[in-house]
Amino acid sequence: MKNFKKADRLCGVAYDIRGPVMQQAAKMIADGQEVLKLNLGNPAPFDFRAPKEIIETLKANLENTEGYSASNGLQEAREAIARYCRHKGIPNVRLQDIYTGNGVSELIIMSMQAFLNHDDEVLVPAPDYPLWTASVKLAGGNPVHYVCDENSDWMPDLEDMRRKITPRTKGIVVINPNNPTGALYPKEVLQQIVDLAREKNLVIFADEIYDRLVMDGEKHVAIASLAPDLFTVNFNGLSKSHLIAGFRCGWMCLGGDKSYAKDFIGGLDLLSTMRLCSNVPAQSVIPIALQDFDTVDPLFLPGGRIYEQREYIYQALCSILGIQVKKPKAAFYIFPKMDIQKFGIVDDEQFALDFLKEKNVLLTHGTAFNWATPDHFRIVYLPKVEELKTAMENLADFLPTYHQSQGR
Ligand code: PLP
Repeated sequence: MKNFKKADRLCGVAYDIRGPVMQQAAKMIADGQEVLKLNLGNPAPFDFRAPKEIIETLKANLENTEGYSASNGLQEAREAIARYCRHKGIPNVRLQDIYTGNGVSELIIMSMQAFLNHDDEVLVPAPDYPLWTASVKLAGGNPVHYVCDENSDWMPDLEDMRRKITPRTKGIVVINPNNPTGALYPKEVLQQIVDLAREKNLVIFADEIYDRLVMDGEKHVAIASLAPDLFTVNFNGLSKSHLIAGFRCGWMCLGGDKSYAKDFIGGLDLLSTMRLCSNVPAQSVIPIALQDFDTVDPLFLPGGRIYEQREYIYQALCSILGIQVKKPKAAFYIFPKMDIQKFGIVDDEQFALDFLKEKNVLLTHGTAFNWATPDHFRIVYLPKVEELKTAMENLADFLPTYHQSQGR
């Protein structure tokens, strides 16, 4: 029999979803064990419900959204997105500069497919949301990781970025607020990235899907608002802000000066048309979702569930010997550091696997986010405090006797 292999272009494209930790969790669940999942940024399983008006609008529109829409999206959805862009100061976004997508994920992959030739380089943060690295690779490019510096609250290291730019560098990815660190970048940092992109003639890819999920009275600044003379590709969506990850509803907007990106835009149009369109019922809720720009979701205010869960998880982690952590300001992720000397850790995936097997708690190891050293893990703090408490008690119990290089 012929042996069917995956396509060569998938070689070297890493995506953790199928790794040994996930396989072990699936096996434990299949065996009837309970596993506390702190690994996925998916609000619905943790009793978060979408706003009522979103569900009502979706239901009301089901019958008139049965057909394909224009490939770049329903006009009324794109009008609402254009208004949102104006509110955020993202310059020069016309209706034809907006593409709806089956989540931001589809558009990330599409943008890299349209942009990259073999061996082109894109600067991607480390740690990153790993779809970016995987998408650059899938498109034949080379992701080059710039460091976000834990010692300065996970801000991008501008000097590292500069050092890593070569004649092949075409773009820079900025994930703000950041997954997995929960960092929010101030205007001054964004301005420096814009200045570098201008100097080196780079396209900025801004993943801002967490822009409304900000705490402590902070305000998100869209990087494109600082770059009216540059070409920017901006990503956002409703998976997180409106708790509808399963609807698959995102968008991509082209901002700033498009005069030197005409051919690239032609490539985006081609790929957008090839997939016909994104989920049309999901697009129909965009106008109502984007009606209110300014109200901070009560979940992110003191007393709100996500705010209080962040307070709990941060304090709990701080009290565990051998763990250090920066307090996140946005989204619902925290990225603690382990004392790898103390725990003899040389393989963070093995650590996640050992912890899962012994305590039935599923974390994601830091190297899955393209972090170079095996000394971090990510917690999604969406579960309620009682569940987070169980997880933290388990971690506090597990770590003191854990020593990987001595076989445990
Ligand atoms: N970008 C970032 C930074 C994310 O964390 C995620 C999902 O977790 C996505 C994009 C993809 O979101 P979606 O495809 O649901 O719109």
